[in-house]
Amino acid sequence: MRLLIVEDERRLARSLALGLGAEGYVVDVVHDGAEGLRRATEGDHDLVILDIMLPGLNGYRVCAALRAAGYRTPILMLTAKDGEYDEAEGLDTGADDYLTKPFSYVVLRARVRALLRRRGRSVPPVHEIGRLTVDTGARRVRVAGEETALTAKEYAVLEHLVLRAGQVVTKAEILDHVWDFAYSGDPNIVEVYVSALRRKLGADVIRTVRGAGYVLERP
Ligand code: CA
Repeated sequence: MRLLIVEDERRLARSLALGLGAEGYVVDVVHDGAEGLRRATEGDHDLVILDIMLPGLNGYRVCAALRAAGYRTPILMLTAKDGEYDEAEGLDTGADDYLTKPFSYVVLRARVRALLRRRGRSVPPVHEIGRLTVDTGARRVRVAGEETALTAKEYAVLEHLVLRAGQVVTKAEILDHVWDFAYSGDPNIVEVYVSALRRKLGADVIRTVRGAGYVLERP
């Protein structure tokens, strides 16, 4: 799952990104409205966390512009407590939910999960592929019924392959979904994670398609 945070308070943005990143979400962070609009339009995000008071283009205008363009990703708006902006206006511009600052991280995380669940309601959260069971709601993985602990990144790579099971997924696509846009390291990092997943889940779970990418086979 890939999230976009548009927040000009850098400390807040950084702490949200760290928290959500530690839970396995891929998090892109930008600090102004125009850049937020551009990143949201170009990117493939599952959720946008959008501050209202932003330099350049405020959050209402970003949200309205996205919705006018047919953008359907859920948007969680962050509002200031002073009541200068009210939630009705946020929801009017097409936001799915709002959160008043200051908020606790626990509350934000719950709202994020709820929005992602709502969005994914048509998609079954538990995927059973051969011996592998991946519960994308609880972010848990079992192999032949045995719970298997994965790191956040390992889980993110696996989840991407599971959601595209039976199809060849390129290394570039995995990089794009699982690492944030600031990552400029070696794309072969994907191989390292696929190797780790094979060690933990079984060597035959992920097949390499030479020169193309990886496929998680449906049995
Ligand atoms: Ca702000």
